[in-house]
Amino acid sequence: MKPVVMKFGGTSVEDSPAILRTARIVQGRLARGQRPVVVVSAMSKVTDQLLTAAKAAGRGDRSGALAISSRLRHRHCDTSEILLPVHRKGEIQNWIQQEFESLDEILRGLSAVGELTPRTNDMVVSFGERLSSRLVAEAFCDQGIPAVHVDARNCIVTDGQHGKAVPNDALIEARCGQYLRPLIEAGHVPLMGGFIGSTVEGATTTLGRGGSDFTAALIGGGLEAEAIEIWTDVNGIMTADPRVCPDALRVKTISFEEAAELAYFGAKVLHPATILPAVQKNIPVLVLNSRNADNEGTRITALATHCRSPFKSIAAKRRLTIIDMVASRMLMSHGYLRAVFDVFDKHKCAVDMVSTSEVSVSLTVDSNEQLPALAADLSKLADVTYEGRKALICMVGGNIRGQNGIAAQVFHAVRHINVRMISQGASEINMSFMIDEDDVDEAVRSLHAAFFVDPDPEVFDVSARSEAAVQIGHGAGKT
Ligand code: ASP
Ligand code: MG
Repeated sequence: MKPVVMKFGGTSVEDSPAILRTARIVQGRLARGQRPVVVVSAMSKVTDQLLTAAKAAGRGDRSGALAISSRLRHRHCDTSEILLPVHRKGEIQNWIQQEFESLDEILRGLSAVGELTPRTNDMVVSFGERLSSRLVAEAFCDQGIPAVHVDARNCIVTDGQHGKAVPNDALIEARCGQYLRPLIEAGHVPLMGGFIGSTVEGATTTLGRGGSDFTAALIGGGLEAEAIEIWTDVNGIMTADPRVCPDALRVKTISFEEAAELAYFGAKVLHPATILPAVQKNIPVLVLNSRNADNEGTRITALATHCRSPFKSIAAKRRLTIIDMVASRMLMSHGYLRAVFDVFDKHKCAVDMVSTSEVSVSLTVDSNEQLPALAADLSKLADVTYEGRKALICMVGGNIRGQNGIAAQVFHAVRHINVRMISQGASEINMSFMIDEDDVDEAVRSLHAAFFVDPDPEVFDVSARSEAAVQIGHGAGKT
């Protein structure tokens, strides 16, 4: 039987109640006769704090770095104190103390030298997943789950690009066979930290922020898993942000391509580039809610299922700045746009959207402090103006392709809102436009009302809506 890879994010292991909830979810899979392999993130916020500590140490701020480490030490010890049975506490707490001794030693070394390299940064930040995975494995054992802790660095082999290491698929597959398969076949539940890996020479590396999803996909790919489950704290991908649009629906199934567009535009459920290894092997990826384990979540598949509405979801990306450049003589001359993009490159500033006319270029970028310097450099090429507090609305769906009149419907729905820039992505599954940040909520609600009046029950979870309708019906006449 094929294993199922279950990845739990930081909020699913943030404290002892969360870890126990996670244990129950894994028990549920075992009870169904499935064979789980578990990947966990660091406890929530730990990675951020380790990064801050490393930075402080690199600046020579020894006491600042050690203070952060000390708070983390207490958090892990306190969690183990509540979570672990008396006969395991001694050994594990000793181990936690030792880990923090080595972390502190690294931090003291860094602050003495006053220099932080990507390699030492990875070393520091890897403690998050190393600690959480061992702690969760112990807790699982105490809950009767036959968990065995596996050091992720034995399985996830990468190159040496610290901070954003590139995995070696062939070696990972071999290591999965060597370290995980025998455990699974013996009825154990292998459990490891996400995010971290190692070079062939043994240097600790990391896969980039949010990298635990990536680990899950790599392990799932390496084991030819039945499915990969990404457990988070939301019910899956929604048709819109439910805080903005209370009648947003859960999207039951979405294609990889569609999920990728959404993630880029700010739907923070998962980073789809990281699940590519699984999609390429046709392994379904499910996004599930560890606080609501019975919910079916969202299934991400290689190909889109047929859907009668054009869009699957509406995302918004805020805090953008629009830069307008007007250069009547030069714009269409050879190499001009290249010169423009060289300036963005110099300032390491990513561009979201570009639109050009005969005499002007408009671009959008994340608002940041470098903008005045960037604009100064750009003014050597054109007359430049820029304006912040903008947002992109991004409508995603495989059915925009080949349908007539969709743009007209979209802009009719937001006809009361001032639209600055429009783009229909080359992918043909994304239609985006730029508006003022203050108009985002209104635009999302109007679009949602226009495009999800009669949602396809094959693709969207309409049960929540019908329950709400019944409640409203019953409530009629009361206040
Ligand atoms: N702990 C890492 C991070 O916060 C990886 C992850 O959570 O996926 O980026
Ligand atoms: Mg995450």
